[in-house]
Amino acid sequence: IVCFIGRSNVGKSSLIKALFSLAPEVEVRVSKKPGHTKKMNFFKVGKHFTVVDMPGYGYRAPEDFVDMVETYLKERRNLKRTFLLVDSVVGIQKTDTIAIEMCEEFALPYVIVLTKIDKSSKGHLLKQVLQIQKFVNTKTQGCFPQLFPVSAVTFSGIHLLRCFIASVTGNLD
Ligand code: GDP
Repeated sequence: IVCFIGRSNVGKSSLIKALFSLAPEVEVRVSKKPGHTKKMNFFKVGKHFTVVDMPGYGYRAPEDFVDMVETYLKERRNLKRTFLLVDSVVGIQKTDTIAIEMCEEFALPYVIVLTKIDKSSKGHLLKQVLQIQKFVNTKTQGCFPQLFPVSAVTFSGIHLLRCFIASVTGNLD
C-alpha cells in the first residue's frame, strides 16, 4: 500500500489520475467500506497495490482529522510509502509541516512530491525546489532525499514517479 496525503486542492486526485489512468489493466475503484469514503478515499489499483487518497487537511478539514490519519498511518503495517504532496507554487505551508512532523514522529518512510510545476516560471520553480530541498536535507530524517516535481497537466515527472512507486511496491518489471 502507498498513500497520498496533502492539503485540499494540492492536486491529489489529478496526480492519482495521471499516474494510474493510463494503465488499461488497472482498475481504479473507490472502496465500499462504509463510513470511510467521506473521509478517506481508497483506490484499489490493479492487483498489487492500493492508493489511499487522504482528504485535504488544514482549516477546511474536520477537527479530528489529525487523529484519524495518525491512527491510520500507525496501524497500517503494510504501508510502503507515504507521498506527501506540496504545491510547488506556494511551497511548504504550515499545514504541510504538520504532516511532515507526523511522518517524522511515526518514522514513516515518506517522499515529498511537488505538484503543479507547470504553473510557475522556471526561476520561481527552481527557487522553491532549492528551498524545499534544503528543508528536507536539514530538517528531516525519514524523508526520501530526492524530491519528485510533477505536473498532472503536462505529465512532466509522472513517468519517473510511476517507476519509483513500482519500485517501492515491488512491481518493477
Ligand atoms: P485535490 O483536492 O488535492 O484532490 O486536488 P485536485 O486534483 O482536485 O486539484 C485541485 C486543482 O488544481 C484543480 O483545479 C486541478 O485542475 C488543479 N491541478 C491539479 N494538478 C495540477 C497540475 O499539475 N497543474 C495545474 N496547472 N493544475 C493542476
